[in-house]
Amino acid sequence: MSDVASGYRPGRHLVQVPGPTNVPERVLRAMAAPTLDHRGPQFAALMRGLFADVKKVFHTGQPVVMYPGSGTGAWEAALVNTLSAGDAVLAFEVGHFASLWAKMATQLGLEVDLVPTDWRSGADAAELEERLRRDEGHRIKAVLITHNETSTGATTSIADVRAAIDRAGHPAMLFVDAVSSLASIDYRHDEWGVDVTIAGSQKGLMLPPGLCFNAVSERALLASKTAGLPRAYWEWGPILEQNAQGFFPYTPPTNLFLGLREALDMLFEEGLDAVFLRHQRHGAATRAAVAAWGLELQCQDPPSYSPTVTAVVMPEGQREEAFRQVVLERYAMSLGAGLSKLAGRVFRIGHLGDFDDLTLVGTLAGVELGLELAGVPHQRGGVAAALEALRGR
Ligand code: PLP
Repeated sequence: MSDVASGYRPGRHLVQVPGPTNVPERVLRAMAAPTLDHRGPQFAALMRGLFADVKKVFHTGQPVVMYPGSGTGAWEAALVNTLSAGDAVLAFEVGHFASLWAKMATQLGLEVDLVPTDWRSGADAAELEERLRRDEGHRIKAVLITHNETSTGATTSIADVRAAIDRAGHPAMLFVDAVSSLASIDYRHDEWGVDVTIAGSQKGLMLPPGLCFNAVSERALLASKTAGLPRAYWEWGPILEQNAQGFFPYTPPTNLFLGLREALDMLFEEGLDAVFLRHQRHGAATRAAVAAWGLELQCQDPPSYSPTVTAVVMPEGQREEAFRQVVLERYAMSLGAGLSKLAGRVFRIGHLGDFDDLTLVGTLAGVELGLELAGVPHQRGGVAAALEALRGR
């Protein structure tokens, strides 16, 4: 089944939204297996390998809790395991997903200090440092940062965030949303002193939606012993206890774990550094195309440019929905929509996951042809510029 209109259509429906990403054949085949007994020895053996290997993509030696759930669930798990009602948290409103996470924190009874931004860059480390310095009584218990804001195509340097917290000498925990960066953009949970990293299965990990993750520091585990927010399903303690035997306190998504095994093997075969470089190249080539079309990037801060998603501003008077519909109907390609305050004004090109040069060129060709067909003012030559960028690297 696809979103493309009825009747046989030759070729592939390109799903170039910034997640869920295209699931490679190897992963699909690995998941197409008979039901596993989730309390049997075969499953326990599979999980022991996965508990060890999944840490490598987070660059951590600490536990990674895996839940059946979406990234939104992993946001909640991070908050409810570590904080108490009325605790203050500091967040940066860098885009749609950062805003949703902050809204959730408010709904859970936390006091959220939300730093407004124009949605055109990542979080400002200098502003973070200043706010933490002003918090002399250390009321702020956690800083929430979105590593890669999927709605705007802007990243935040977590190394810079860590350095800012350290310079301020503030004890706040650091929680990072790596939903659209993990396994696509270099990520270092331990080195950057992150207390909880949040991730999902459906982007860089090349799996269908359905698994979410909390990588947890020792400090976060300690905080969970006294944190007061109500929690049950998300509680780390019982899960980690059962994980030590290779099991879960509930029915785990067994076939997704078979897929995760294959996906991790593929990432390690390619090499994580090569995976990160590939995403950087594709981000740069996409931006070269956007510049040649004469269109504007939503992200206006070059150091924050995202290697996984590019958000493109529609010319004045043009709507992204109409353009995306033309691309879907004529070229069988799905592009990402503008979200919340960017609805109607921005479309997004996902270039992450199981993705190569020729898929990128096909994607950009679909955009360029679609711009013409939809009557969106632009200059030709974006695909040629992308080819040039790919040649140069
Ligand atoms: N955080 C980011 C950066 C995302 O891109 C998304 C979804 O795209 C989420 C969180 C929410 O994840 P989910 O839709 O899996 O609940």
